[in-house]
Amino acid sequence: MNSKQLWQSTLGELELTVSKIHFTTWLKNTFIIEWKEDTVIVAVPNNFTKAWLENKYHKSIIQVLQNITDNKVMNVEYKVEITKQPAISQAAVIQEDAATSSQEDASQAQTQETASRSQEHAFNPRYVFANFVVGKGSELAYAASVRVAKEPGTKYNPLFLYGGVGLGKTHLMLAVGNELLRTNPNFKILYITAEQFTNDYVSSLQTGTVDKFKNKYRTPDILLVDDIQFIGGKEQTQEQFFHAFNALRDAHKQIVLTSDRPPKAIPALEERLISRFEWGMIADIGSPDLETRMAILKSKAKEKGVELDEEVLRFIATNIQSNVRELEGALNKLFASAELKGGDLTIDLAHDVISSITVSQRRGGVSARDLTKVVAEYFDITLDELTGQSRRKELVVPRQITMFLMREELDSSYPTIGQELGGRDHTTAMHAYSKIKRNFDADERLRQDIGSIKQRLYNR
Ligand code: ADP
Ligand code: MG
Repeated sequence: MNSKQLWQSTLGELELTVSKIHFTTWLKNTFIIEWKEDTVIVAVPNNFTKAWLENKYHKSIIQVLQNITDNKVMNVEYKVEITKQPAISQAAVIQEDAATSSQEDASQAQTQETASRSQEHAFNPRYVFANFVVGKGSELAYAASVRVAKEPGTKYNPLFLYGGVGLGKTHLMLAVGNELLRTNPNFKILYITAEQFTNDYVSSLQTGTVDKFKNKYRTPDILLVDDIQFIGGKEQTQEQFFHAFNALRDAHKQIVLTSDRPPKAIPALEERLISRFEWGMIADIGSPDLETRMAILKSKAKEKGVELDEEVLRFIATNIQSNVRELEGALNKLFASAELKGGDLTIDLAHDVISSITVSQRRGGVSARDLTKVVAEYFDITLDELTGQSRRKELVVPRQITMFLMREELDSSYPTIGQELGGRDHTTAMHAYSKIKRNFDADERLRQDIGSIKQRLYNR
């Protein structure tokens, strides 16, 4: 079987399980560009499709591929195919790539890929300060990032940005990179996720190139590390990062880190790293309030050259609260569906789109067990602790959040919820549900936690 036949059969199978409109929108215009041993690389027309396939269809795609190939295919990657234009210099090529893709919904994954593949410091020009909408929750993080871009390697070193998923951490970090590249074209800027750092280290061990690895991370002028919480619990990686960090900071090179939580709350992070992460400036990014969400939608629509009714804006902003990425997703979906239907961006259409989003978020075969597991992992507690009898606050809140989510996401009855959580009474479940619901709007941290948990739950 060649890759064309493989993909044809795969699409044939998928067509049976996916709705027609989704099939046409997300799957039809894809093809395999490479099939090497256990890995298949699928070409997609834009980043928006890439994100959809990764988030919504990845599991089904892998499953079908494995069925057809007798488990030969184990990995699937999605790659945006962009027609490259001739350009003057290497760096310019990368910029052009990024510029082309930014017309669609360029994702950070693309940026990472571009940056690491080329070993050049090029960032997606979409992530700049100018299009970051500053709200109450992000003022400090924004100001600190701007300051770092003006005076790298001085006062705020490292800059540690933390907050829930989809709130703009990567955006701000890359904005620092873009701004520095603009003002200092010769700066060597290295952007990497903590996961890539880890993989890089592991493969350097395997290939006996640890010196090269060490050197790579001790030479840039600016080091940007995304999702640093990933190194929690990984002792050797932490050791390596510790030395790279010291070398750079001693040489007054700027370091920017992002994380989904503050240094102290990262599970199994060495004390010496915690204290170093706290040396410079720590800024959190909170979730945007209604006003900011509307401003963000307005700005995103404007980027696409579309003007939206105030009513439609307000409707989306009221119904999608968790994070900016979902806000953007909803907007893109609205555009896509208006285009497919050839109609206007009316409030009715927005209604349809939003309700289909919330419904599809609830589907996906999530069980009570999945939920408890995700919550326990998220709070770094054991399942026994989560369902047990202890009244310690650090256990009670996760427990209540679990009950809340069982009700909201799984539509479980109160007696069932009580049962699932260590045989509690149904009134306990009711109480927990209303307590979390009551606090939801006022409690920033709670909203972030719930948003992150949902994200993990549905993107497993
Ligand atoms: P995080 O790294 O915190 O998970 P990202 O930086 O990837 O989140 O942001 C998710 C998406 O939302 C990106 O497309 C980003 O451009 C956009 N975004 C987030 N916050 C803002 C903001 N305040 N203004 C404009 N766009 C934003
Ligand atoms: Mg990020």
